[in-house]
Amino acid sequence: AKTSGRQSIRFFDPAMQEAVSTRMLLEEDIRRGLQAEEFIPYLQPQLNEIGQVIGAEVLARWQHPQRGLLAPGYFIEVAEQAELIEQIDLQMLRQASDQLALWQRAPATASLSLAVNLSARLLYQPDFVTTLLQFLAESGADPYRLKLELTETMLFDDMSIAIARMLELREHGIRFSIDDFGTGYSSLAYLQKLPLDQLKIDQSFVRELPENSSLAIIKAICALADSLQLEVIAEGVETEQQYHQLLDLDCRHFQGYLFGRPMPLEQFEHWLITNQA
Ligand code: C2E
Ligand code: CA
Ligand code: CA
Ligand code: CA
Repeated sequence: AKTSGRQSIRFFDPAMQEAVSTRMLLEEDIRRGLQAEEFIPYLQPQLNEIGQVIGAEVLARWQHPQRGLLAPGYFIEVAEQAELIEQIDLQMLRQASDQLALWQRAPATASLSLAVNLSARLLYQPDFVTTLLQFLAESGADPYRLKLELTETMLFDDMSIAIARMLELREHGIRFSIDDFGTGYSSLAYLQKLPLDQLKIDQSFVRELPENSSLAIIKAICALADSLQLEVIAEGVETEQQYHQLLDLDCRHFQGYLFGRPMPLEQFEHWLITNQA
């Protein structure tokens, strides 16, 4: 078989076959994990310029019965290819809605919001708006407390559908942030067409501070956001120096290891008490 051409060599390549079956096993395992509701939200705090916690980003984790806690790097690519990412997103959205509803009832947490990452495929699903509004209605969560994080690239698959979905959700109070801003696309014209609330400066720019080029980019993003009346949040803030430089650039919202890592819900609530006291 080895001499009969590239195709057959590849086909019988045992390493390749192993990779394929590993992927299929992982896919099956994700399906099982979804059924068993093993995907849970970790929350990473977001703060304002005076150090108050304004909410958190929801980051999916897989609480695997054998492998322990797994980060998205382990499952997201296969989940995307197997069209299972939508279901992970929906489970995050449902749990986020339930949590917001609980927080609303206590004065100390009533003003917190949650930002949830959305995959392109879910945004383009025809029944997405209905499903999300149903989660919010069932839990009693205020839609205004929910922010959806979108990436630039996913908006361009079909801009008119994306805009229509966003406008519909916006009508109900749901807000939008552009994740990884500055890394996705060259034209900024779309910013005027979308009902946006926030730009999220990509962590690659923050990481490179105080390099002049990233300083200039962050400055430009902040100025742009200001003139479009959008909020700016910087993510991946790890050092005091980065934090102070961002403050100097008039960035008002922050997220990063300097303030808190993604953590399970109970730990987040505990962290809130000890941090805001
Ligand atoms: P992202 O949305 O850009 O999320 C930020 C990532 O940076 C998270 O990684 C977070 O843990 C990490 N991070 C936060 N602060 C710092 C910091 O100060 N320094 C450094 N070095 N890293 C920091 P994570 O949790 O592994 O998530 C990776 C990516 O997986 C996310 O990137 C997002 O694109 C995707 N993801 C996570 N949860 C979901 C989800 O529920 N749905 C979808 N569709 N995607 C998700
Ligand atoms: Ca995000
Ligand atoms: Ca990001
Ligand atoms: Ca990212």
